[in-house]
Amino acid sequence: MNKTTTALATLSVLLVTAGCGGSTSRQATENSPSGNQSSSNTAATIEPASSGRMNPRYEDAETPEAQQGRQLMTDAKLLEALAQQVNDTLNLPHDVAVLGKQCGEPNDYWDPNTNEITLCYEDIQQSEHRFAASGNPDPVVAATDATTSGFYHELGHATLAIYQLAFTGREEDVADQLSAFMLLAPGADGKPYPNGVRMATNTAQDWKLSAKEAGDANDLPFWDGHSMDITRMYNWECWIYGSDPTANANMVASGDLPEDRAGNCEEEFQNMSKAWQQMLGPHLKKPS
Ligand SMILES: [Zn+2]
Repeated sequence: MNKTTTALATLSVLLVTAGCGGSTSRQATENSPSGNQSSSNTAATIEPASSGRMNPRYEDAETPEAQQGRQLMTDAKLLEALAQQVNDTLNLPHDVAVLGKQCGEPNDYWDPNTNEITLCYEDIQQSEHRFAASGNPDPVVAATDATTSGFYHELGHATLAIYQLAFTGREEDVADQLSAFMLLAPGADGKPYPNGVRMATNTAQDWKLSAKEAGDANDLPFWDGHSMDITRMYNWECWIYGSDPTANANMVASGDLPEDRAGNCEEEFQNMSKAWQQMLGPHLKKPS
C-alpha cells in the first residue's frame, strides 16, 4: 500500500468513526450531517405539530471504563433528562434517539443516517477521571455537566441537519454555540436552564484539563474541523461572561478571561443567541 492509499484508508476509518469530542486524542474528521445547503425559506415555514420524539436508550457495557461511564449516566438519569428537555422544547419531524454506548473510545457523535446522538460511556468516564485527578471536589457532577454540554453540541449538529438550517462558520464552532445558547440563554419561557452557568463553567474546565493533556503544541491537529481545546475553553469563558457580564465580572478581574477578548463577549453571545433563536424559532413547541 503506498502512502496515498494509506492516507485514504486512514481517512475512511476516521469518517466512519467520526466524532465530536475534540480533545486532541480524539479529534477526528467528523461525519458531517449532509444536506446543510439548506432550503431558501426554512425560517419562514410554519411547521405543523409533529409527533417525533427523542427516545433515550442505554446499551450494554462490558469494559470497566464503559461500565463506570454507564453507571454515571444511569445514576443521574442523564439520557432521560436530556430527552425530556428536548421533547419539551422542540418539534421533531421524526423520532431521534439518544444512546449511551460503549464505543471503545471517549467520544460523542451525531449520525444523520440513523438519527441517533451517541454519548460514549468512555467519554463521561474519562471526564470524571480527569476532574478527580485535578482535585475537583465533585467530579461526578462536573463530568455530568460536561457531558450535558457535549449532548447539546451534538444536538447542534442534529438540528442543523434535521431542519436543514443555513449557517456560516465552521460547523463544530456552530455546534458549540448551540450548546452555550441552550445552557446560558433564557428558554422560551424566560427561565434560565437549571444550573446552566455551572454546567458551562465545568465544560470550560473540562477543555482546560483536556488541553493540558495534549502535550507539545506542534503535535496539535491544526487541520481539524474542531477548534483547539484551549480555544474552546476561552470561547466558553467568553460566552459565560458575555451572557451576564455583571454577575461574571470576576472572570475578567481574576485574569482567567483576558480583557482583550472580554470586551466583545457580550455582543458575541448576543449575536449567536439571536442567530440560534431565529434558526430554531419555527421549530419550538408553543408554551402550554
Ligand atoms: Zn461536533
